[in-house]
Amino acid sequence: PFEVLIVGGGPAGAASAIYTARKGFSTGIAAERFGGQLHDTLGIENLPGTPYTEGPKLAGDLEKHVGDYDIDVMNLARATELRPASEAGGMHELTLANGATLKARSLILATGARWRNLGVPGETEYRNKGVAYCPHCDGPLFKGKRIAVIGGGNSGVEAAIDLAKIVGHVTLIEYDSKLRADEVLQAKLRSMSNVEIITSGQTTEILGDGSRVNGLMLKDRNSGDERRIELEGVFVQIGLVPNTEWLQESGLELSKFGEIVTDEEGKTNLPGIFAAGDVTTTPYKQIVVAMGGGSSAGLSAFDYLIRNEPK
Ligand code: FAD
Repeated sequence: PFEVLIVGGGPAGAASAIYTARKGFSTGIAAERFGGQLHDTLGIENLPGTPYTEGPKLAGDLEKHVGDYDIDVMNLARATELRPASEAGGMHELTLANGATLKARSLILATGARWRNLGVPGETEYRNKGVAYCPHCDGPLFKGKRIAVIGGGNSGVEAAIDLAKIVGHVTLIEYDSKLRADEVLQAKLRSMSNVEIITSGQTTEILGDGSRVNGLMLKDRNSGDERRIELEGVFVQIGLVPNTEWLQESGLELSKFGEIVTDEEGKTNLPGIFAAGDVTTTPYKQIVVAMGGGSSAGLSAFDYLIRNEPK
């Protein structure tokens, strides 16, 4: 059994492991894919102290850093069930997809999240070639260009407001007949001169020249008419889904969006179980935030282990 078992090997999980291993605790990481979302990311320019890196390179650097310590990394290990300890200090149990069971006195859940995809032709092909999901990350790459934001909820409208200050023109496309974002955000968006808002609009295809996005096909859901919009970028903002499906029966408190509810120390509602990164209720889903959350959860696990005798 481990003193600390971390589920997930993205920035949050890696940071947690480095912190608990440096406290001398036996630490394991069970991860479906070590590196997490970093493998889907190209340029990273907002990690303070690292002016430029690329996702796979950062994943490799994290793996190397984790490898400097005595951390048992189980890659390709997908957790399917969690059975929490019945009392503080007791053993938690984790079942993996291959049937194995792992035990640990404390757990840090860092299974991250995934952006919901549109599921239209061109989206996968042009990912990182004009199709983007993170305005904080990729906005500056579209300086002065024409882009669309797909999704008229709070995240879509916030993204459109943010991007309108950087890019040349924003077309916001909402599938429903009206925007769902808070009224104050909608009013702000409507006040911006380089923004067009389209409702009842269905994106049917993302178009490109083979190497970059150059347009999208938009269907008017009322008339059925389809037309082409010329642009250089598409930001998909239709939801971030936390990877917590496997925790539904665990007794862990989840938010209405399925995120693990944590306090500022990374504690969940269950003693000895902590969580960090994109899988939690933390409002900003970013690498540096996930790393910070992972470090806090690691220190909280340390605090828990020195205060609770093994049962
Ligand atoms: P993740 O990176 O999602 O890692 C989750 C880990 O958990 C993975 O190892 C995964 O395999 C594992 N896992 C999931 N389910 C299970 C399970 N059941 N059992 C075991 N393991 C499991 N942020 C920035 O700060 N700057 C950027 O430039 C940037 N660009 C981005 C570009 C793209 C295209 C995307 C998708 C995201 C980008 N982000 C960026 C966001 C950033 O990648 C995330 O905020 C960050 O990776 C979150 O880290 P995490 O450790 O919480 O989760």
